[in-house]
Amino acid sequence: MNIILFGAPGSGKGTQADLIVESHGLKHVSTGDILRKAVRDGSDLGNQVESTLAAGELVSDSVMMDLIRRVISDISVEQGWLLDGFPRTEDQSKGLLTLLDELGETVDAAIDIFVDNDEIVRRLSGRLTCDECGRVGVAENNANNTCRNCKGSMRVRRDDKPETVLKRQKIFRARTRPAKDVLAQEYDVHRIDGVGTPTEVAQRIQSVLEQINQA
Ligand SMILES: [Zn+2]
Repeated sequence: MNIILFGAPGSGKGTQADLIVESHGLKHVSTGDILRKAVRDGSDLGNQVESTLAAGELVSDSVMMDLIRRVISDISVEQGWLLDGFPRTEDQSKGLLTLLDELGETVDAAIDIFVDNDEIVRRLSGRLTCDECGRVGVAENNANNTCRNCKGSMRVRRDDKPETVLKRQKIFRARTRPAKDVLAQEYDVHRIDGVGTPTEVAQRIQSVLEQINQA
């Protein structure tokens, strides 16, 4: 089975990716892991990735495509894969569809874990960090904002303020929407409600996968 998993930061995508990969025995293809591995192996492509990342830039679609091609081509059809963090752009989606045609493979399920902006902001902006020892806690549990560890004062880091979280979220959605649109021309993209415990969300995904397998 081949699965593509979409989800914004804060959606719980990473947790669900681990659960699906484990229960279905799939190969986890995470762009973060692929980029780190490419840098480590010191190939020409890896060196290119390293200098791009060092400059604080995004790895180009064509480099990303080359890396994905290598990884997916090495995974047996019997095992299958779960793509996590790819495709993120329109061109990456088009490249992926072309690659799958070449390999004679298809996508069995495209899953989009959806959590609305309010909930994402609640999840990501509630974090408090201790000025003194760096301990991270949740605002609701620390009404007086005193660190349990060192009695220092806990506060919300600039990056985790609601307006910053919301801005990052909007940029992410605007960038990734075209990737889903292209894919949706060939495959159903199943939107899953990402609010609930990890187990509840996993059950929703599992029931979609079962429906697909029965179809
Ligand atoms: Zn502290």
